[in-house]
Amino acid sequence: MNFEQFSFDRRIVARIKAVGYTTPTPIQQQAIPVALEGRDVMGLAQTGTGKTAAFILPILQRLTKGPLRQVRALIVAPTRELAEQIYQMGLDLAKNTKVRSVSVYGGVSKVSQISRLRSGVEIVIACPGRLLDLVNDGEIDLSRVEVLVLDEADRMCDMGFLPDIRRILKLLPAQRQTLFFSATMPKDIRKLADNILKNPVTVQIGKIAPAKTVSHALYPVPDNLKKSLLLAMLQQTPTGRVLIFTRTKYRARNLARDLEKRGFRAAALQGNMSQNQRQKAINGFRDGKYDILAATDVAARGIDVSEISHVINFDIPDTVDAYTHRIGRTGRAHQSGEAFTFAGQADEQMIQDIEKLLGTRIERRRLPDFNYGSFIPESQFQENRSKPPQKTLSRHKRNHIDSNKGGNSPRRRSQRHK
Ligand code: AMP
Repeated sequence: MNFEQFSFDRRIVARIKAVGYTTPTPIQQQAIPVALEGRDVMGLAQTGTGKTAAFILPILQRLTKGPLRQVRALIVAPTRELAEQIYQMGLDLAKNTKVRSVSVYGGVSKVSQISRLRSGVEIVIACPGRLLDLVNDGEIDLSRVEVLVLDEADRMCDMGFLPDIRRILKLLPAQRQTLFFSATMPKDIRKLADNILKNPVTVQIGKIAPAKTVSHALYPVPDNLKKSLLLAMLQQTPTGRVLIFTRTKYRARNLARDLEKRGFRAAALQGNMSQNQRQKAINGFRDGKYDILAATDVAARGIDVSEISHVINFDIPDTVDAYTHRIGRTGRAHQSGEAFTFAGQADEQMIQDIEKLLGTRIERRRLPDFNYGSFIPESQFQENRSKPPQKTLSRHKRNHIDSNKGGNSPRRRSQRHK
């Protein structure tokens, strides 16, 4: 089975190839044909199943025809990370078309979101609170929305967004297509779905289970010891598939080569490789030819491998969103996962930011029996250790976290307006 069967516009097909998707995932196989027919969909699926492309692709297909520069598709997501992820995927897949999108969420200034909206977009990807704010400001007109997507509906409900969702629904045309995705189906969500979906087709992927836990650990280490620490770690730790992230293409390539020389079944995945080479690396990783993949953030975006036991941040990511994205690759589909981060003195600020986002301190670990030489891992992050992360938040960061944890809920919004 391949993507040809869906008869997507050739510009979309070209992008599907360019991002490296060759075979539709099970949810895509089930949901895309139904969504293309204009039917409502009830999708029971977790992230990691390919659900985002399952709703983005039919939306793009619809938007390649008809009026431009009016909001015709609305995608509502609970967190800014998810909204950004959807936005990025939309950007990638829509690159050859005239379709434009914007992501809107709280915790950041409205200015650039408003200017993007004013320049004209067809797709709005939004967290509920900021969406309502911008509607109230007269910046978003939802009266011509043809497709609504509610993503991670159960999480939205957990975060207290249900009243906001009801408000949003009232602003939309009754005549529309609704695509509804949820990993679980508690009573509230079932009721909401029953109310808003018309004769939906249900697609269900995998067993419905609570979110997976990923355990996080930090390994203080100077840059010159990272490689030996990694080797020692790989020798000491029972692992399955290991995905290692590096900061640069060069480091990914060299690391994979070094590991290979030392007898590990490893491959690199980085932007200087041809699409063909990249796909070979991903397929080899998925099929078990390689146990280890050393990748850069950008190159790793198309990876759809569910059983990754460890994500190792050989280099700390540049942004907290990238951290979330990286570690989201383990702990999927009923597996538990571990996320290890190597960090030096210069990474302290980023670690603090990640801890603020997680709302907890990441456990510091020292690899037993590893020769750290004169370096004392315990000497790092002393100051940070004595300060609980939440107490040191800047206003901007506080908003950022709020927006991830229900900060746009009606109660908090009304407090902000007082
Ligand atoms: P999602 O469940 O939407 O979060 O997707 C999980 C990951 O799978 C994302 O990184 C997508 O880029 C990737 N992905 C989605 N569809 C495919 C596909 N057909 N083939 C390979 N990777 C995919």
